[in-house]
Amino acid sequence: MLPAYEMDVGTEPLAGPARNSVGGWPFLDEGQPWPECFCGERLALFFQLDLPPDLGPFGGAHLLVFHCRAHNDATDAQMTADGRLVPRYWDAPQPPYPAPFWRVLLQRRATLPTAEPEPSVRALPLTLRPFADTPGENGLGAQRFKVGGAPSWAQEPEYYQCACGTDLVYLCQVPEGMEFAVHPGQPEQPYSIGADTYGLFLSNEVYLLACPAHCDPAAVWPVNQN
Ligand SMILES: [Zn+2]
Ligand SMILES: [Zn+2]
Repeated sequence: MLPAYEMDVGTEPLAGPARNSVGGWPFLDEGQPWPECFCGERLALFFQLDLPPDLGPFGGAHLLVFHCRAHNDATDAQMTADGRLVPRYWDAPQPPYPAPFWRVLLQRRATLPTAEPEPSVRALPLTLRPFADTPGENGLGAQRFKVGGAPSWAQEPEYYQCACGTDLVYLCQVPEGMEFAVHPGQPEQPYSIGADTYGLFLSNEVYLLACPAHCDPAAVWPVNQN
């Protein structure tokens, strides 16, 4: 099990780029464009952070979670006959959609922020604090906004094999119903809880499972449960 860090969202809006943020200025590898949805909208940056060096195969990488404002649904894993996620599952059709409406990236050379910040989700500081995510008798970790530790599965645990053949590893959890404040005047997100907030994946509990082989920066599968 990886060490656990609880993530706290601050209340004082960011005035400039920060590597650990909700909203804000995405830090992307050189040549990595700001991801877009199949609908043509630029995906909203929900949060990003530098992964602490002790997070095993993910330590030192920069994690970014983008999701479409206009498309809000749960994920549906597409598998091959031999039980792997389909090739390039991060771009593959997500019926009824022709492609995913989200993008999760692990960037390893993200040195500079974009010139412009995320326009809709409010830019707030994100702080990491180590905590002991000791699984209880049920084997589950704490139901928190966190990286590392143990997932607090709301349903049966889910395991996936990356298209590259490597078993995905649980990396990050976003608790069910977590809302992200948006600037006034932004279009409402369908099915979101509040008129002035956006959510991820229909506000399901989200468990990010990532490829420890780093076969692609987007080789991360978001599991949804409730
Ligand atoms: Zn979209
Ligand atoms: Zn892989």
